[in-house]
Formats: sequence, C-alpha cells, structure tokens
Amino acid sequence: MPTPPKHRRKAPKESTLYLGVLSPTGRTLTFYCPYCRGHHHHGWNPVDPVWAITHRGSHCHAPGAPSGYHIGVSRELSAPK
Ligand SMILES: [Zn+2]
Repeated sequence: MPTPPKHRRKAPKESTLYLGVLSPTGRTLTFYCPYCRGHHHHGWNPVDPVWAITHRGSHCHAPGAPSGYHIGVSRELSAPK
C-alpha cells in the first residue's frame, strides 16, 4: 500500500494563499490574482482532498507578485457536489 500524500491544511504564515474554484472535472483550480487583476489556472489532482493546500510556482508576471504561493479550494466559491 503506497502511503497517501501528505497535504497541508494551512499555508505557512510567510506564504501567500489563494483560494479558488475547481473546474467541473476537478482538474483545474482557478483563482483571482490581485497583482495582475486576472485569473490564474493551476492543474489540480482530482483525488486530492478539498482541504489540501499545495505550493505552486507563480503563474503571475505582474510587478511585486510572489514567485510562489499556496493554493486551495474555496468552499464558499465552489458549488457543493
Ligand atoms: Zn497574477
């Protein structure tokens, strides 16, 4: 039995956390970015729990944007299944 991956439930204090919406397939997480005032899309593993917080390299090229951040699923923004 492979051990299940360990996920954070919270981002470290020094890291930016963005909460976004999962696509209907559960494979893409989309969130609003205040730096470029647009949306970024990151791949998401559908088997990951909805509470998982994972670190990603930034997709943002706006000045002042962090080079990486943590992302997670927003329970408020995501429609219940
Ligand atoms: Zn951005």
